[in-house]
Amino acid sequence: MNKTYCLSSKDFNTLKAILECQDLHVDNFAFTLFAGDDTFIILHEEFEKLEDDMKKIIVAHEVAHILGIKDEEKADIEALSLLTKQSQRDKLIDMWEFRHGKRYEGDKSE
Ligand SMILES: [Zn+2]
Repeated sequence: MNKTYCLSSKDFNTLKAILECQDLHVDNFAFTLFAGDDTFIILHEEFEKLEDDMKKIIVAHEVAHILGIKDEEKADIEALSLLTKQSQRDKLIDMWEFRHGKRYEGDKSE
């Protein structure tokens, strides 16, 4: 089962605090929880207000986690291959330093 929930800011932040106490990483607008074979994508209420490319990037990143990639940067590398639009890939690469503290080192298809 693969289910998506959208939480209010308050609930999202409460759950985020609980998970971070258990050393689990929580992304800014979304995170993924696993329970056996079930997967739950939890979205922050502000997610709906993001522009479309940004939503696609966030979901692709979460899908990479669902595919079993735990590392944040590797999840973004996988997200690059999942994104369908060049504008989305460019945007993700532009955020690389902000997201990972270093520049993107893969080949930026030009
Ligand atoms: Zn992540």
